Amino acid sequence: MPDRAAAASNRSVLAGLPVAFARVEAAAGRIAGRVARTPLVASPTLTESVGHPVHLKLETRQPVGAFKLRGAMNAMLALDEAARRRGLVTASTGNHGRAVAYAAREAGVPAIVCMSALVPANKVEAVRALGAEVRIVGRSQDDAQREVARLVTERGLTDIPPFDHADVIAGQGTIGLELIEDLPDLALVLVPLSGGGLAAGIALAVKALRPQARLIGVSMERGAAMAASLKAGRPVDVTEEATLADSLGGGIGLANRYTFPLCRALLAEVVLVTEEDIAAGIRHAATAEGETVEGAGAVGIAALLAGKLRPTGPTALILSGGNIDPAAHRRILNGEPA
Ligand SMILES: *Cc1c(COP(=O)(O)O)cnc(C)c1O
Repeated sequence: MPDRAAAASNRSVLAGLPVAFARVEAAAGRIAGRVARTPLVASPTLTESVGHPVHLKLETRQPVGAFKLRGAMNAMLALDEAARRRGLVTASTGNHGRAVAYAAREAGVPAIVCMSALVPANKVEAVRALGAEVRIVGRSQDDAQREVARLVTERGLTDIPPFDHADVIAGQGTIGLELIEDLPDLALVLVPLSGGGLAAGIALAVKALRPQARLIGVSMERGAAMAASLKAGRPVDVTEEATLADSLGGGIGLANRYTFPLCRALLAEVVLVTEEDIAAGIRHAATAEGETVEGAGAVGIAALLAGKLRPTGPTALILSGGNIDPAAHRRILNGEPA
């Protein structure tokens, strides 16, 4: 397997990082058959406009509509039987909360998702519909996170965090293994970037198997916490702003242990896109590719269409999720202001 040789010659890039490539390989074995092995499809229109083959990795096809199922499933399966019986807890309101709920239900494990009273009813319902207990606490994400800490201490539940966790990162990294399998001459990957679990995991796998490939993180201009942190050289907070890429909001955690060092070591750069770019990305996905994507899932297309970067070879874009409010999607397709 030539991949093995590449991995060996690439030890220096990956040496000293807080998560090992072997962890991604272990994740692939664990979650196989329990999450979707998603298709990588060619985009004739983007290929034409860029001048190199452009492929789309359809994580929109995961059972919960987003890649987060990979990390949540892997983290859950890595727990021992006793921990599983006590159950899972998380404070995420979005795709990660759904992923934890789905993974728990599949394994017959109890799960509690803590949310503030300000979380919209449709997000509460989406998690409840997957069989998890929803606990409404306080009026902020911090209040919800405090309840998670209490349940961990007092009831021995296991907190599955959305990105800064070795098994979550390794689970997301299985996307990278599939990319190399499907597109062995991969030159560039554009990865939606928020907390950095997706980018860190994919980068671990791609850099291990194909060191010459480059990874670029794409975030929205409005409140890009990882971009600001990489620039500052340490995790920093940013003001959260409303954005079409709502799944990319939030900080990276000032006590970040894994994703910050991994992104710093493995990402070639971070590109920022505007709200108009994101809207154009969502429209292109729908009209030219026939894919319904949420704002976060459209940032790679947005960056390419806006000419924010210049691919030099076969390129893969991660369409990370498709959970967008249908009315909002319609408004964007109609070209109405966000
Ligand atoms: C969570 C999420 C991201 C960002 O993933 P991170 O690991 O936090 O960087 C991107 N797209 C979608 C759809 C998501 O749900």
